[in-house]
Amino acid sequence: MERAEGGHLASRIDGLVCDLDGVLYVGDTPIQGAAERIARLADDGVRIVYCTNNSKPTVAQYVDKLTAMGLEVDPDDVVTSSVVTGEVLAADGSGRSAVVIGGDGVTEAITAAGIDIVPEPRAEADLVVVGWDLDFTFDKMRRATLAITNHGARLIATNEDAAYPAAEGLWPGTGAIVASIAVASGATAEVMGKPHRPMMDAVARRLEGCERVAVVGDRPDTDLAGGLSRGWTTILVLSGVTKDPSRAEPMPDVVLQSVAEL
Ligand SMILES: [Mg+2]
Repeated sequence: MERAEGGHLASRIDGLVCDLDGVLYVGDTPIQGAAERIARLADDGVRIVYCTNNSKPTVAQYVDKLTAMGLEVDPDDVVTSSVVTGEVLAADGSGRSAVVIGGDGVTEAITAAGIDIVPEPRAEADLVVVGWDLDFTFDKMRRATLAITNHGARLIATNEDAAYPAAEGLWPGTGAIVASIAVASGATAEVMGKPHRPMMDAVARRLEGCERVAVVGDRPDTDLAGGLSRGWTTILVLSGVTKDPSRAEPMPDVVLQSVAEL
């Protein structure tokens, strides 16, 4: 594990997978110098892919947020777990209807994939697609469970992050919602987000032609594990949820206080 050799590393990479929350900002607060550093790397010819497990915002909302921070962002380079879910289900083609639990990002991606969103209260569907839903209720859990147990729907999860680091502490993440439906229905979820293969494939496709790729993130179990599965250099930043790098699993190749040091 290297420390404080970020500048040296930056000159050796031609592709960077950049996690968002905890790397470029925490909630609505930009991390000082982070966006400026990423903009410089892009100017220097490093291909940047923005990659987040947060399924709730739409791509346009992310583009707006990053643009406001001074970054030039192509919407195709914003890979959320919702985007990946839509791409996988569109390519797969076997699911034509879905009960959807989640925010605008999920409904946008499912609609773009040409899949009909089954209106409430119906539960007849090929798929149950679950993202982060701040209005999750027993009723939604019941409907998802009925779709699976009565109608044979497949359970698809945008991601399985157990918790979300809110300002006041940990909130239940998508993984907690998915777990409740999995327990109730007996189904095993197919998970799209990092570190799982669908998202890593979606990111790798966008980095085709790059030979020296690094991934930067604040969560070892998702960001670093996903990068490790591809043989990419892994960079842990301490500007997000991880404060003690000595217990990181997997261990990162490089530790930085923030991406501004890269
Ligand atoms: Mg993060």
